[in-house]
Parts: sequence; structure tokens; C-alpha cells
Amino acid sequence: MKIAILTSGGDSAGMNAVVRSVVKTGILKGCEMWVVREGYEGLVRGNTEYRQATGMDAPTPNDGSIPDGPTPNILSSLRFGDGKLLKDGTGDYLGGRTLKGRYIVRVGWDDVRGWFAEGGTLIGTARSKAFRTPEGRLAAAHNLIREGIEALVVCGGDGSLTGADVFRAEWPKLVAELRSQSIITDAQAEAHAHLKIVGLVGSIDNDMSMTDMTIGAPTALHRICEAIDNINSTAFSHSRAFVLEVMGRHCGWLALLAGVAGGADFIFIPEQPPKGMPWEDEMCAAIQHHRDIGKRKTIVIVAEGAIDIDLNPIKAEYVKDVLSDRLGLDTRVTTLGHTQRGGRPCAWDRILPTLQGVEAIAALLESTPQTPSYMIGIQENKITRVPLMEAVEMTMAVAQAVSDKDFEKAMSLRDPEFSESLDGFIATASLRLRIALIHMGAPAGGMNAATRAAVRYCLRQGHTPLAIQNGFRGLLDDNVVELSWLGVDSWMARGGSELGTNRTLPSVDLGAVAAKFQQFNLQALMMIGGFEAFNALLILEGGRKHYPAFHIPMVHLPATISNNVPMTEYSLGSDTSLNALVDACDAIKQSASASRNRVFVVETQGGKCGYIATMGALATGACLVYTPEVGMSLNMLRKDVKFLKTRYGLDEKGKSEGRLVIRNEVASSVYTTEVLTNMFKEEGGSLFDARSASLGHTLQGGIPSPMDRARAVRLSLKCMTFIERHHALLEQQPAKARHATGESAAVITIQSSSIEWVPVQEMLKHADMANRRGKESWWSGVKELVEALVGRPALK
Ligand code: ATP
Repeated sequence: MKIAILTSGGDSAGMNAVVRSVVKTGILKGCEMWVVREGYEGLVRGNTEYRQATGMDAPTPNDGSIPDGPTPNILSSLRFGDGKLLKDGTGDYLGGRTLKGRYIVRVGWDDVRGWFAEGGTLIGTARSKAFRTPEGRLAAAHNLIREGIEALVVCGGDGSLTGADVFRAEWPKLVAELRSQSIITDAQAEAHAHLKIVGLVGSIDNDMSMTDMTIGAPTALHRICEAIDNINSTAFSHSRAFVLEVMGRHCGWLALLAGVAGGADFIFIPEQPPKGMPWEDEMCAAIQHHRDIGKRKTIVIVAEGAIDIDLNPIKAEYVKDVLSDRLGLDTRVTTLGHTQRGGRPCAWDRILPTLQGVEAIAALLESTPQTPSYMIGIQENKITRVPLMEAVEMTMAVAQAVSDKDFEKAMSLRDPEFSESLDGFIATASLRLRIALIHMGAPAGGMNAATRAAVRYCLRQGHTPLAIQNGFRGLLDDNVVELSWLGVDSWMARGGSELGTNRTLPSVDLGAVAAKFQQFNLQALMMIGGFEAFNALLILEGGRKHYPAFHIPMVHLPATISNNVPMTEYSLGSDTSLNALVDACDAIKQSASASRNRVFVVETQGGKCGYIATMGALATGACLVYTPEVGMSLNMLRKDVKFLKTRYGLDEKGKSEGRLVIRNEVASSVYTTEVLTNMFKEEGGSLFDARSASLGHTLQGGIPSPMDRARAVRLSLKCMTFIERHHALLEQQPAKARHATGESAAVITIQSSSIEWVPVQEMLKHADMANRRGKESWWSGVKELVEALVGRPALK
């Protein structure tokens, strides 16, 4: 199949990773891959200018070395292009090829190498007036047929995907017209009777329905949270108020999640205007309340498209005037503007587009004239295919619902994370419980954010949040303190563990732990941590046989950079850690590239769980990855050395790039990082050299990523409602002989597309206790993908 990809509409971080993934996967599946430069505008222009200028057809192969047909031996097809073809963008003559007047260009493997770390879109994007006209689309159809292209991958926002659907629906009519004007032959008309289209959502606003996340939105959120973190310190110093305007004309996702992850005081989003009228009173009352209890700083976030209940725009400047005039606050406005478009993609904006690109090619290869065009989405942790048109229609329905003032409907059309985040932001009710919070194991990004959310939720509900400091050892030493609303104010952006954490399990003295539960009258427990927390929950649940004090709701919120808690596909801290790894590897790769011909062996933490190593390799484009699950063998190393030699041998002389190899710290006790590096050094000879770097504790990350913060809040609030629900069930039993069910000691997990509560005894069946990890690892297939995307033949 001949497949072309284009990026359209506003640029977003991660678009390059999409192009890389689509091109490489397509080649691996034996397809011929093309890119369309400058979005739909390039499709309309095609290669006509080139033909007119030179009197020749555009050269199809980039450098004449593209073999025909499928490429069973991947290595033989590695050398398409020189990696610079599209980075030029000026139409200059490069490597024996010119792009001038050529918008539809065949690409090869090396053309898209190293595209991960680049923001924006290297193949260009445009807003095309011509494509909106029937004549423009007729020209576009002709250009595709002329090059023999049968399928199109479009990465863009809702406008671009609408355009894609219009194009596909109109296609048979366009082909008939081209035929009737004798522009194409009967054979061409027959061969191109159908156009296969798949859409990927590239948009910083996260404004598409039927997917939890759009490509570019996580990076935009990163940029906004960095800005809020920076503003927070100056706001605190001067006791100022800041009004931040963020992007989002029709969608408040960035404003909402920035509000959650940045710990804002008030937010304005298009889907849910403040209900109380006038909103000025509501905002001032909330902020004055925060000031009354001692808050020195105020952050208000306004989405670009924020409106009041009568659809009048709410502008940042006006919000500032209200805060200054009514509350006498020294208030400043910050408009983040185009800095939000992203730049360097964060880890998730490398992983998501890569996985979605693979799915896009699969969808095209399976498509028939009867199947609808799909949009590739994600639900929790599952890559999904949804009918493109349905998603576009649903997205438009949100805007319609807003303009009809049907805000409830607008919210219902957004994904569940959106409305749950909003509920979290404005939670209220009443029930009184003494809830203990404890951190366990190694620190992980998001632990403090989860604690902050739980504390504030507790206070709003009338519960008492009790922090157990320094784990179970601290509990035995009576290190239990009540946390206050203000006391946790700055915890959102803090890495590490504010409560203090260690690996001591309650089994150190279970009877004494039970006595302390009684002494402090604990009515519920939330543990935030990794494998230790899971183990502790198991022990406490088992202890219910002997100690009535443990007959209370107990939850475990997984937080560990290793992501080794069984059954859950995500733990707090793993995103922060992947971002720390990406930052370090980008720097290492730069050094590796500068010194040419160098392999860097990067050692990661993770215990006996290869999650960080594997997903890190996917996010950095590493060429080999070693994990404890797969282990290392002499046979494997022999093949890897051979692969590296072949790969470096294929690089143009003097133009070799540095390559990364990622090795988990305990992938093998014999083939250590040092042994591996020395082996590569020795075997590389004149082709390549090798160095190693150990990332160690840097992987715990400094400031937690916005994703970890936002998920911490969402999952933490779910833990709180779980506790309330199970406490209410217990309350139905006589006070003296309460018996908690197995379900009331559970772990919150993300499994594929949903959030599931798993009783701890059920978790045990899926745990590999000796190796401290789950029995199954959902990412195991990713290792093969990492290696396939660098052209390494599969191990037999
Ligand atoms: P962003 O979310 O960044 O605004 P977008 O994809 O929604 O991205 P648009 O400017 O709406 O951006 O659309 C990009 C291009 O898609 C348009 O310039 C136009 O060429 C094409 N397009 C949009 N809507 C249609 C349509 N109804 N018919 C044909 N083409 C369309």
C-alpha cells in the first residue's frame, strides 16, 4: 500500500513523533511511505510546480536506493534518505535532491530519524483555503492518484479531521469527475475507487471527544504548569494575585487541568461557567475565604474562550480589575500565548503518538470499502479506534451545547477525566471520618499532590485528615499530625515525600500497629506508595482476623517510579520519571551525536521491573533495551553487536549519529552495564565507540509532571469516595462487631481503558512476590516495538 501522512491545523508537540512512527511502521509492514508537506495546501499543490519548472516527474526515490516491494530484510531498507530531507523546509537542494515545488514526497527510514525531540511539525502545516473548495479537493485527489497513493493519515485538530472526512465522503465523486474530464485513465479510476483515511488528533487543547488525550496537550500542560510554578513563588513573595490566560477557545481542558495541577484558587472554562450570578461575587467570596485563612497568593486561570452563564466572554483583564477593585489585591495578568504550543515534547507526547502511529497503520491495512474511517484515540491506557465522523460530530456537539447554554450536556460530551477533574476541583458534602494518610517505599512524583487533594477533600467533607509521618515506624512513635488546608498549599509542585517515607512494613509489630490505630481512632487508611504499600495492605487485611482495629476501609494508591505494582498499568511518579529520563537522554544523545559514532549505554533504576527502561526506550528512540523480564544472554548480545555493526556500517561516512542503549540496573547480574559497554567498545572497532551513564536517583525526578499531579488528584479523590462508600456500609453494622469485607481493602488500578478497584487478596494472585512485580507486564510488547522501530531484526 502507498500511504501518505500530513499534519494540518495548528502545530502541536508530538506531531513529529507521529510522522516518525507512521513512516517507520508503514515501512516495516511493507508499505511505501510518503509525506505531504504543508498540510492540505501541499495536497492541493502536489508536485505540479516541480513538473512545470523541470519538465520532469518528481524523482520518487529520495536517493535511488529504495528497494521495490516489501522489505523482508529490514536492514537492507534502512538507508532511505539522509535524515535531512524534510528538515530543510526552504526548498534548497539537499543531498542530491530538491524539494522546491514538491509537496508530496516519498520518504524512507532515515528521513525521520531523531524526530522525537523536535517540537512543532517538520513537514510543515498550514491552514488551506483552497482545500475548503471543491476545485481544491479535486486537485488534491488528482495529485494523490498521480502518485498512486491509496491511503492518507491526517494528524490535526477537529477542523482537519472534518476536512479528511469531507474528502473521503466526496472521493468517488471526485474520481468520477477526473475520469469524465479524461484527467485520469479508467485503470486509475478503478484502482483508486476508494480512499482510505485515518485520523490522529494533534491539538494542544485536548478538545476532541471520544479520546482522553490529544497529541500535544500534555506538553502544553507542562508549559503552563512550569509557568504557574514560576509565578507561584513571586505571587507568594509579594502576596499578589495572578490571572493567567491559557489557550482553549472551545475547550477548558488546559485551564482545568492546569488549575488542578497548579493548585489554582479559581478557574473559568467554557463548558461550565460559574453558576452563581453574578460570578464576580462567587469568585471574590472564594478568594477572600482563602485569604482569610492565611493564603498569601492567589492564582486564577481563565481559558481563552471562558464565558459567563449568558455567554458573555470573561476576559483576564476584567478579572484582574475585579480582584484589584473589590478585594484590593495587587493583581497582574499573564497571557501565556504561543509558548503553550510546546516546543520539546514531554515523555507522553513521544509515547502516545508512537503507539497511535502503529495503530493508524494497522487500521489502514485492515480497512475495506465497508469500514468507516477511524480516528485513533486513547481511553485511560488503551489505544482505541473510533469512527472519525462520530468523534468529529460529538466534538461539534459540545460547541453547540455551549451556545445553547446546555452546559450539563457540554460536560457529558467530554471524557470522564474532564468531569471528574472538575468535580474534584469543586467537591462539597458532609460526613465525618478520621482518615489516616501514609507514604510508603521510595518517593515518587505525585505523592504530595495526592496527599494535598485528599487533605482538602477531607476538610471540605468535614473529615479529619491525619498524616502518619515516616511510615509505620512513625506511627509506632506517635508521629501522627492533623494536616491543615493551608499546610498543604504548596505541595502540588513538590517532589519527594512531605510525610517522610520508608520501607518498614506493619508486620514489624502488627499488634502494636493495631493498638495505634485504636489510640488515634483511625476510621480509614490511605497508603500512597509502591510495592511496599501493596504488601502492607496485604498484611493489614490479613491482620483483620486478629485485630478489630483493621476492620476499616483501607486503600492503596500506587505511586512508584518502577510501576511494579501488579495489575495497574500506571503508578504515580512513573510519568515524572519518564520525563526525567527523556531530559537526561536528550542531553546524552546530544553529546553522543556531537562525538559521532558513539553508543551510550544508559542504566536505569526500576528494580526487577523493566517498565521505566522499556517505556524510556520508546520515548527516546533508543535502539536496544535490556530488561530483567527478558534477561540477557550471550546469544542476544552477539546479535545486538552484529546489529550495531551493520547499522553503523550503513551510516554515511562521517555522518553517524549517536545511539542509545537502555539497560535496567538488574537486567543481568553478569552482563553489567560496564561489561556491556566494554563489549560494545571492543567489538565496535573503527565503526563505533561506547560510553556508559547511570541515571540512578535522578529518575525520581525533581518537580512532579503535570500528568502525575493531575492523576494524583483524580485518583486520590476516587480513593476518598471509596473510603466514604465502604465506611457507610460498615456503619450499617453494630458498632462493636464491625466486619469489613475483602472488597474494603483494595488497590486503585488503571487497566486498559478503565479504572478498577481490585481487592488486595485478588491482587495477590497476580503478584510475583519474589521479584516484586506483577506476573504479567502490559508493556512487554513495547520492547519489540522499540527494536522494530530502529530496524533491529527480531530475535529467533
Ligand atoms: P486547531 O485545533 O489547531 O485549530 P484544526 O485542525 O481544527 O486545528 P482548522 O484551521 O480548523 O484547524 O483546519 C485545518 C484545515 O483543515 C483548514 O485550513 C482546511 O484546509 C481544512 N478543513 C477544515 N474544515 C474543513 C471542511 N469542512 N472541509 C474541508 N476542509 C476543511
